[in-house]
Amino acid sequence: MTDKNKNLFELSQKFIPGGVNSPVRAFSSVGGTPIFFKKGMGSRLWDENDKEYIDYINSWGPMILGHAHPEVIKAVQEIAKNSLSFGAPTSKELEIAEMLVKLVPSMEQVRLVSSGTEATMSAIRVARGFTSRDRIVKFEGCYHGHADALLVKAGSGALTFGQPSSAGVPKDVAKHTHTLAFNDNEGLEKCFSEMGNKIACVIIEPIVGNMNLILPNINFLKKLRQLCTQYGTVLIFDEVMTGFRVALGGAQELYGVTPDMTTLGKIIGGGLPVGAFGGKKDIMQNLAPLGPVYQAGTLSGNPVAVAAGLKTLKLIQEPNFYQKLSLMTEKLVDGMADAAEKNGIKFSARSVGGMFGIYFRDTPPNSFDEIMDSDRTKFNKFFHYMLKQGIYFGPSAFEAGFVSAAHTEKDIKETIDASYKAFESLND
Ligand SMILES: *Cc1c(COP(=O)(O)O)cnc(C)c1O
Repeated sequence: MTDKNKNLFELSQKFIPGGVNSPVRAFSSVGGTPIFFKKGMGSRLWDENDKEYIDYINSWGPMILGHAHPEVIKAVQEIAKNSLSFGAPTSKELEIAEMLVKLVPSMEQVRLVSSGTEATMSAIRVARGFTSRDRIVKFEGCYHGHADALLVKAGSGALTFGQPSSAGVPKDVAKHTHTLAFNDNEGLEKCFSEMGNKIACVIIEPIVGNMNLILPNINFLKKLRQLCTQYGTVLIFDEVMTGFRVALGGAQELYGVTPDMTTLGKIIGGGLPVGAFGGKKDIMQNLAPLGPVYQAGTLSGNPVAVAAGLKTLKLIQEPNFYQKLSLMTEKLVDGMADAAEKNGIKFSARSVGGMFGIYFRDTPPNSFDEIMDSDRTKFNKFFHYMLKQGIYFGPSAFEAGFVSAAHTEKDIKETIDASYKAFESLND
């Protein structure tokens, strides 16, 4: 049988750099050929060879309802009949803005964009305009999209490829970005005492999902909130991944720490390109046309994308949605940890909401250094053993995993059974 994935990947490399439109998709870190998908339904995917998979990537987060949810598809089809774009306001934008403001504790006003990258890039621009300061602070291993100022010691693909800081970013731009260690209160206090009144904003993934899954110490988030307030620094929670993923109100609701601004993406587009940034009204009012901070987008608030997002946001507000999702995700990680233990494999795992991390080390990591200290060779082998059995995990030891509301007990059981075999094979 010919492997269509392989043929397509070879041809793609002729026309697309590396054969992919986003680096992690290339499987460079785990080796082998990326899968070309042609269909998804609920928790399942089918590739070009008609092989079936249980999906734990969820398009990197957005597909929290599973693939091709009938109501989301219907909403998209209906709105598409009335034109795909106007470049002018629509009532749907108002509807989704109202909903975001209602659901996200820190948001008083919000503006829509078309990706998470645009959201974070625009948020730091507003923060800089609002404070009249240039410096920004981020944390090592956190990924905030690929804008110049934020591609400094970044996570996700940047980390996977060992290029956390990108070529092509001028030193003059990068010099304004200061990077601290996540969960390190001392480093944080030192930074603020040295230059707190020069820092425009601190941007952080309150729960990190881009150096695998790392949870914050609550004291660390509280200290960060206190220092930002004390020094007039805008605190930005980048919840592009965690928003509507770990809880309805995101990590800020879960930890009870409210930032000044929040960036969103992924789930709020339900699989279509939508991002958003918002926060306190006095900050957001600095945006054009009201204020001096320019920001714009031809397709911002696109009606079709917003329709998919709105329907998704409505469906996730059903009673017990997050309880069920969390429980299913816990079952998965507990079952896999158990399977590893029975095979004597050094392994740990954890979850929060519909998001999980698996680690080839004894205990779940709490810092960048600890995640770097996990067995990547074992992960890569495990990944391929699972893939062969039709289980699709992120192709890098630095990515978090995602469970959707479409995942069933049967999916979880099949995955745990497959993991048992994979762990067993690691001992060969
Ligand atoms: C995915 C992600 C982004 C970037 O979003 P894109 O839509 O890929 O541009 C930014 N921040 C975080 C935390 C993300 O997970």
